[in-house]
Amino acid sequence: MDYFHYVDNQLHCEKVPLSKIAQAVGTPFYCYSEQTLQRHVRVFQEAFAPISHLICYSVKANSNLAVLDSLVKEGVGFDIVSVGELERAKRVGCPGEKIVFSGVGKRRDEIQSALDYGILMFNVESKSELLRLNGIAGEMGKKAPIAIRVNPDVDPKTHPYISTGMRTNKFGISYDQAIPLYLEAASLKNIEVLGLDCHIGSQLTSLAPFVDALKRVLTLEKELFASGIKLQYIDLGGGLGIPYEEEQVPPHPEHYAGVLLAELNNRNITLILEPGRVISGNAGILVSQVEYIKQGETKKFIITDAGMNDLLRPALYEAYHSVQPVERRFGREESVCDVVGPICESGDYSARERLLPEFQEGELLAIRSAGAYGFVMSSNYNSRPRVAEVMVRGDKFAVVRRRETIDQLMENESLFEL
Ligand SMILES: *Cc1c(COP(=O)(O)O)cnc(C)c1O
Repeated sequence: MDYFHYVDNQLHCEKVPLSKIAQAVGTPFYCYSEQTLQRHVRVFQEAFAPISHLICYSVKANSNLAVLDSLVKEGVGFDIVSVGELERAKRVGCPGEKIVFSGVGKRRDEIQSALDYGILMFNVESKSELLRLNGIAGEMGKKAPIAIRVNPDVDPKTHPYISTGMRTNKFGISYDQAIPLYLEAASLKNIEVLGLDCHIGSQLTSLAPFVDALKRVLTLEKELFASGIKLQYIDLGGGLGIPYEEEQVPPHPEHYAGVLLAELNNRNITLILEPGRVISGNAGILVSQVEYIKQGETKKFIITDAGMNDLLRPALYEAYHSVQPVERRFGREESVCDVVGPICESGDYSARERLLPEFQEGELLAIRSAGAYGFVMSSNYNSRPRVAEVMVRGDKFAVVRRRETIDQLMENESLFEL
């Protein structure tokens, strides 16, 4: 459920017409609906209300400060993967005790900063990381709180690039290595074992893999208890999918919570969840302008001013994004076409072989479901300044990240002078 809708045939974000924002900030731009973000968080929180839980929004999905700020105000914590994300969390006032730190490659300085801020726990992904953590915590006169990320080896049946919980992935510790590593962790002087973590993938559209993963994790938890290690937290990661296409409807968070709660029945444990996409994905769109219509020999192309440097998902994972005109007009002809950008790559498209209304040059179009893994993955490829980000609250909007300037593109560069 989101707050992007047509009013008098003009696509609005909440109560603001997107054409009005385009006039003020130019195109392309990302537009986020604060009400949608908050609604998604509330749905999650209510669904898990029956048990002790902590929602740690995955910052990497959309890390704009205004987005993080409106989520923190709803009481969520954060799942971070870098010191940059830690800094963002600090700037919006997220308390350390609501932060978990994931990722296979945590550097020394990142670990130090996170220990310094007093985060809830590190999701440890290797033995080397565990030993490094123990060493750094010792130097700092602290204990490092940890969970071990275990690979439950379930197939999430999603795109291979966004599947993370299988034996062949770089993430986590294999199921069989988990108990020995926990025993080792428990013996280290500057490590405090708090929990168990897993994250099996992203854009999951069925619940069975989550249930399988939780079952595997709970079996481990029992075995650990028998070995004298009592866990306080189980972190199930993120991964719940969102509808990108109207026909395909992933499970609702309530249903997701329902099956997990059934497995957990009355265990004395706090559940941590790290949703990213399901919170911000459908709370954002990318608005772009049609530059040219090109009738190729076999295909028609709608060439827009947004490219794969602005929204990488189609090029990276062949992701589907719905494309809509900002001004809806009835009785337009429809035809099958590709929506492409200006980048010098054949993978530069936002929609392929799509039945769309006849767009006109100069017209605005909206690329939906772009609030997660959209702006955050954008780059300056082809020396294109990164686009503006706008947030809407009711009938007001604000630029929450200015469009980059051409000067900014080059500000860190210099000629080779000795
Ligand atoms: C990316 C990621 C998430 C969020 O995934 P979504 O599919 O956006 O919910 C959560 N936890 C970890 C460890 C991740 O890498």
